[in-house]
Amino acid sequence: MFNDLESALKHFFGYDSFRAGQRKIIEEALNNQDLLVIMPTGGGKSLCFQLPALLKEGLTIVVSPLIALMKDQVDALQDNGIGATFLNSTLDYAEGRSRQEAILAGKIKLLYVAPERLLTEKFRSFLLRVANGLGLNAIAIDEAHCVSEWGHDFRPEYRQLKQLRSQFPQTPIFAFTATATKRVQDDIIQQLGLRDANVHLASFNRPNLHYEVKSKDKNSYYQLLKDIRRQSGSGIVYCLSRRRVEEIALKLKHDGIDALPYHAGLEAEVRSHNQTRFLRDDARVIVATVAFGMGINKPDVRFVFHFDLPRSLESFYQESGRAGRDGETAKSTLFFSFGDIKKVDYLIEQKPDPNEQRIARQQLNQVIDYAEGTVCRRTIILRYFGERFGGDCGRCDNCLEPKPIEDWTIEAQKFLSCMVRCRERFGMNHLIDVLRGSRNKKVQQYGHHLVSTYGIGKEKSIDEWKMLVRSLLHQGLISETNDGYRILRLNKNSWEILKKQRSVQIAVTQKKLGKGETKYSPRQAEAEILYEKLRVLRKNIADLQAVPPYVIFADSSLKLMSQLQPKNDKEFSRISGVNNHKLQQYGDKFLSIIQDFTRSQELPKPLPSKSQMATLQLHQQGLNPEEIANKRGFAMSTICTHLGDLLEMNQPVALNQLVKPERQKAIVEAIAKHGDVSLKTLRESLGKYYSYDEIKIVRGWWRSQREIF
Ligand code: ADP
Ligand code: ZN
Repeated sequence: MFNDLESALKHFFGYDSFRAGQRKIIEEALNNQDLLVIMPTGGGKSLCFQLPALLKEGLTIVVSPLIALMKDQVDALQDNGIGATFLNSTLDYAEGRSRQEAILAGKIKLLYVAPERLLTEKFRSFLLRVANGLGLNAIAIDEAHCVSEWGHDFRPEYRQLKQLRSQFPQTPIFAFTATATKRVQDDIIQQLGLRDANVHLASFNRPNLHYEVKSKDKNSYYQLLKDIRRQSGSGIVYCLSRRRVEEIALKLKHDGIDALPYHAGLEAEVRSHNQTRFLRDDARVIVATVAFGMGINKPDVRFVFHFDLPRSLESFYQESGRAGRDGETAKSTLFFSFGDIKKVDYLIEQKPDPNEQRIARQQLNQVIDYAEGTVCRRTIILRYFGERFGGDCGRCDNCLEPKPIEDWTIEAQKFLSCMVRCRERFGMNHLIDVLRGSRNKKVQQYGHHLVSTYGIGKEKSIDEWKMLVRSLLHQGLISETNDGYRILRLNKNSWEILKKQRSVQIAVTQKKLGKGETKYSPRQAEAEILYEKLRVLRKNIADLQAVPPYVIFADSSLKLMSQLQPKNDKEFSRISGVNNHKLQQYGDKFLSIIQDFTRSQELPKPLPSKSQMATLQLHQQGLNPEEIANKRGFAMSTICTHLGDLLEMNQPVALNQLVKPERQKAIVEAIAKHGDVSLKTLRESLGKYYSYDEIKIVRGWWRSQREIF
């Protein structure tokens, strides 16, 4: 039926090409090979079992752990005109019955089920009927790490899936997960009884994610607010505690952002309500503890903020990875402060088991390495997953604005000797005040305006001194007390610096001076306005069908529409994400918005110049071109150029007085034949009995009528 897999891809899903790895997996799936596919979130796992399901005879069973996820996937498939359905506890008897009948009638290619249902006696006999009739062509197990106790989401029901292997020995099993560890991989193969499984381990690089780390201080809420205001689309803000979630959500709401809280302390009903509002784009931002995530399949999350420190680099990766599953640009921002490290450190100290403490501390250090790292952030993340990445990704703050390493030994010496003068009894802020010669009360009170280091650090700003102190702390070149006062103390390393036995290098954050906003071309600006209009239309359609907007079209499809501005069905169907079914269903609606928009965007007709207006006035007083030329002291040809331009601008020029209608007709025919070419070409075609001036004037009129022709 299809020449190649690409045309099948376009037919069923509207996409033009496969993502990395998909093609090979699909080919092996079509060969009935058992598979274990490890692909990061957003890699496009679903397609790897969906496309083979559509190309094979019979039914594919998809095991999925979450009811909400199931419904989403089925909605999305149905919206592509694909026969898919699910069976779970949310359906009443009659509905379940009618779905089973549709399956037996061969109308369904993909059936989603929860693992617990799959193993009931009744369902088994139903499956046997399917297997003996239509045939069971594959069993795909999504979130397969749930089978492993070593994974982060063990579900005992998954263990029983092994029975499927013995029950349907001929049917290939495909297991999918985003969890990377080897231990979980081995467990999946063993627990599910996979046979000679081909393992596909995709790169964990998420090229469309942009990583950045911002230092966190008491004004960081405003930084967050500003960032969210600047972003378009939806996003997640992760916080450590429930209290914090409530607080930030409330503040954001107060500041005009549609934000909702999500944490385990909320009633299940409220949680699911908030989640749905987020999925449907009714709320733009969800502020959440890490309880939020698993089971959120929203592909168009555009930004994830970690407002507090994540527990480990693995969890940071998974959480930030919830952005940009659709492959479009998305952003991960981590707010990081030294104080946060202290907080987590304190929590770790409370752990009774020293082994647990050690692991937790190591995980914390990996997060710190990421946050304080001055090399490519992507490199740091991928190194954690055992992948080598060459750096210079161009999509992280360190690559885009590399922080130069500078020698700050002298400054460090100044600071350390100030600590000595103040007898190691103060914290960072006070010491900086002394160094910068502040007149504040506390400095006077302690007599620190009299010490020799008073005012010797004026050449550096407060922020620069803070940057130095943080770096000294992080490099272990000074210490601080753990009692909450954060008093700075000298250690062995500090003394080496003071004795000039050690130099100090720090990565310098440069103050961006008037960093310009990204420059937009008018064309881009135009596309953005249209994009927003298309989003509104998508949202309206989605609400009518009670599905999330991304089920109708992905952001990337809308973006392409706004850039390419298709004019007809044919052009519309070339957009990635548009297949025939979507064209039929939505083409007219989207095309009509696009057309209205392009029409409204056409350049306004320019207004006549002063000189042209003077010509127009004399023309309206009844003077002919020659008379106007004489009166104004211009060449006749200039006046005719004015008249032609005036006509083009739809100004009231009496064309019939200037050129006889039959001559107009001949000139218009020549333009129609040759197009809007040079006057010379037109005159050559018309012959010498037509003057340049006449042609110019008629061409002006023709141009004003162009849309009508
Ligand atoms: P995963 O399950 O691996 O997190 P999904 O299967 O949900 O990822 O796919 C993520 C998004 O990418 C979905 O919106 C999907 O429609 C889209 N997608 C998948 N494959 C392609 C492709 N070949 N071209 C364009 N978009 C794709
Ligand atoms: Zn980088």
